[in-house]
Amino acid sequence: MLRIGLTGGIGSGKSTVARMLAEAGIPVVDADQVARDIMEPGEPALARAAEEFGADILDTDGRLIRSELARRAFATEEATAKLNAITHPAIREEATRRLDACEAAGERAAVYDMPLLFELGLDEAMDLNVVVDTDVEERVRRLVEKRGLDEADVSNRIARQVGDEVRRTKADVVLDNNGSPGQLEEQVRALVARIDAAS
Ligand code: ADP
Repeated sequence: MLRIGLTGGIGSGKSTVARMLAEAGIPVVDADQVARDIMEPGEPALARAAEEFGADILDTDGRLIRSELARRAFATEEATAKLNAITHPAIREEATRRLDACEAAGERAAVYDMPLLFELGLDEAMDLNVVVDTDVEERVRRLVEKRGLDEADVSNRIARQVGDEVRRTKADVVLDNNGSPGQLEEQVRALVARIDAAS
C-alpha cells in the first residue's frame, strides 16, 4: 500500500486537500483526530498526562479539560516538552495502527494528514510526501476572513511551524494553493492519477 504523507502550514488548504482525496476514495488518517482520540478517558496517554500535570486537568467524569491542560503544558518550554513526550509517541503508534488497518483492508493507498509530518520526521515512513503550499499573507487572510481567527494568534502559530522553504524542499509533490479552489482541485486530480498509477 502506498503511504502518502500530507502536510502544509496552518491555513494552507491541507484539510481541503484531505477532503478531496477522501472524496476520490483514498482513506485519510487525520493526525488531529488521532491526537484527540488518544486523550479520551481510559487511554494511557491521558492517564500519564494527569500524573504529570495533576488530576485537575480532568473533570468529574474523567474527561480532559483541554484549556486546563493547555494552561499548564504551554506555560514553559519544559512543560511543553513533557506533554509532547507523552502525546507524540502515542499519536505515532495509533496513526501507524490505523494505516496498517487500511493496508490489511486491502486499500491501494492511504493518506496521513499530519501538520508536524516533517517536524517529527514522520515523512521518512511515507512513500510519497505531499505539501500544500500557500503564501503566508494569503493563509493569514483566509484564516481571518473564513474561519474568524485572530490575526496575531495566526501569525504566532505560523512562526512556530517549520518554514515554507523547508517544507517545499522535503516534498515529493507540492500543490500550489495560491489560486482558486478549482485550480487546487485540478492539481489533486493529477495527484490521484499519479497515486493510481503507482499503486
Ligand atoms: P488547513 O487545513 O491547511 O489549515 P484549510 O483547508 O482549512 O487549511 O483552509 C483554510 C481556509 O481557506 C478554509 O476556510 C478553506 O475553505 C479556505 N481555502 C482553501 N483553499 C482555498 C482557495 N484556493 N481559495 C480560497 N479559499 C480557500
